[in-house]
Amino acid sequence: MAKDAGGVHAGQSRFDVVIVGAGFSGLYMLHRLRRLGFSVHVFEAGSDVGGTWYWNRYPGARCDVESMQYSYSFDEALQQEWRWSERFAGQPEILRYINHVADRFDLRRDISLDTRVASATYDEDAAEWTLTTRAGARIAARFCIMATGCLSAARTPDFPGMAAYRGRIFHTGHWPHEGVDFSGLTVGVVGTGSSAIQAIPLIAAQAKQLTVFQRTPNFSVPARNWAMTEAYEQSWKSDYAGLRRRAREETRSGTIYEFSDKGALAVDAEAREREYERRWQKGGANFMHAFNDILVDKAANDTAADFVRNKIRQSVTDPRTAEALLPHDHPLGAKRICVDTDYYETFNRGNVALVDVREAPIEGLTAAGLRVGGRDYAFDAIVFATGFDAMTGALDAIDIRGCDGSSLKQAWSAGPRSYLGLMSAGFPNLFTITGPGSPSVLSNVIVSIEQHVDWIADCLAHLRRNGLNRIEADRQAQEDWVTHVNEVAHRTLYPQANSWYMGANIPGKTRVFMPYIGGVNVYRQICSDVAAEGYRGFRLAAAPAQQTKKEQHAAL
Ligand code: FAD
Ligand code: NAP
Repeated sequence: MAKDAGGVHAGQSRFDVVIVGAGFSGLYMLHRLRRLGFSVHVFEAGSDVGGTWYWNRYPGARCDVESMQYSYSFDEALQQEWRWSERFAGQPEILRYINHVADRFDLRRDISLDTRVASATYDEDAAEWTLTTRAGARIAARFCIMATGCLSAARTPDFPGMAAYRGRIFHTGHWPHEGVDFSGLTVGVVGTGSSAIQAIPLIAAQAKQLTVFQRTPNFSVPARNWAMTEAYEQSWKSDYAGLRRRAREETRSGTIYEFSDKGALAVDAEAREREYERRWQKGGANFMHAFNDILVDKAANDTAADFVRNKIRQSVTDPRTAEALLPHDHPLGAKRICVDTDYYETFNRGNVALVDVREAPIEGLTAAGLRVGGRDYAFDAIVFATGFDAMTGALDAIDIRGCDGSSLKQAWSAGPRSYLGLMSAGFPNLFTITGPGSPSVLSNVIVSIEQHVDWIADCLAHLRRNGLNRIEADRQAQEDWVTHVNEVAHRTLYPQANSWYMGANIPGKTRVFMPYIGGVNVYRQICSDVAAEGYRGFRLAAAPAQQTKKEQHAAL
């Protein structure tokens, strides 16, 4: 694989398509486009492929969608042959899988690693994008595809005194490859989101003392992970293609769960409790599907939230700690539900303490540790499990300039504006995989990735077949879509949480619900219809190679 030494793979600096990012999205995009005969190259900031699963190596990192579903479906032999060892695979196994895919489809020869893309500029006259890398290389391509990830821009709050701290600092999203041995150490963890909830039990088991700093208690359900059984594996593999089709075409989340056709209040309290208990014992996010109105009806949601709060009270022996762990400020599931192994029980350990930082926030770091509400805590190591600048962070970090030099970051300053989460008006020939305005992070993300990749690949093939090489989202179609995305979100309980879906975790970020909540199945159909109707809402044209810029504008 090529590395960025200022030059580009095999000296080539012009491609039909460049892809930024070599996670699940970038790898599959490369595979599809290469099969279609496009010249294509991937640039990846990390030193290897894997994206999320390359960077997030913290203890306990694992998927929350079952591995039989959280995996590619595009190749029948791949999905039949790969064998997952657990119901929810851990990070090392998922990373091994992604590496296997890269090797199996011979993808590495078209990937430049250790290469961070710094800017992307559209030249209207040449109708092409020019990318520059941080090391100074320039690459030109007709099309640019951002496979930069929705959860790849890790964020550490800007606490005063960071430089003064003498211990070790970690972020879950940038975990050292060699691992961290916390044995005998006094450790502070900041955050209680999904990453923290997975990491805390394992850090607690190793550290001398662990203090968890919690601003907002979160809802978590037990994973009840188990070693894969032959029978379970076969229940999928005996009809893998059919089940995958069902997941993508018939479900809202791209995942097959036990769906219910009943509302929570349509059954009596005893039956409701029984159903919650049954799902709690089975484990996983299947709990969220106990009734069909948990995410749209507050009264229904309250019944599930109460059930989980009771479970927390039963799991945590110290009543004050239990009380502090009870989530109260958002509906259950309005922040992505966490899936844990022994999270609440970890607070029963003698070496674990919980500090509430809602009323008395973290003031900053000192040479020895953290100062919170005027009190100093000394640590050998501090782990920031403080999340990501989600959905827009990785794109904002690239200086993206479209027509007339306008910046994407600026165009999205009041919230992302995208048609179908695929393209943004004013930025021709630039695609985003799982971009804001698409189901992406609300789904089994691999299902959403495959759908976007297939749609983009088909689109580029269509353009080539028809002698076209310019595509841009129509501004009105985009505005209509943004309005629709918002309307649909506000029919649910999701906007009631200060979540990263809303941009609420980043000070100063505009609060707008970013993903499309209408459902993977519904969205897929919309995208297919758009393509079938000649790419309705997009402007397709022959670029200046065939026309002058003026003629081209006239054609639009
Ligand atoms: P990523 O995997 O984020 O890859 C993007 C790549 O782009 C990164 O490697 C990054 O280095 C690279 N990149 C970004 N900017 C640049 C640049 N300027 N130049 C060069 N390269 C760049 N989803 C689920 O559906 N189920 C789960 O169980 C699940 N678990 C998760 C667990 C964790 C800890 C996290 C953080 C996320 C999880 N997700 C999960 C979401 C997960 O991000 C997606 O499922 C999926 O892995 C995203 O793949 P991607 O290729 O789109 O993006
Ligand atoms: P997150 O959900 O955004 O959680 C970040 C945590 O840090 C929150 O508890 C937040 O508190 C806290 N925090 C941030 N700034 C703080 C500050 N200044 N002071 C105190 N606390 C602060 O991030 P994440 O846990 O990394 O998860 C992000 C997403 O990645 C998940 O929602 C999920 O989609 C995915 N993920 C999935 C899994 C999985 O199970 N497969 C695991 C990890 C991640 P507030 O809530 O008060 O802001």
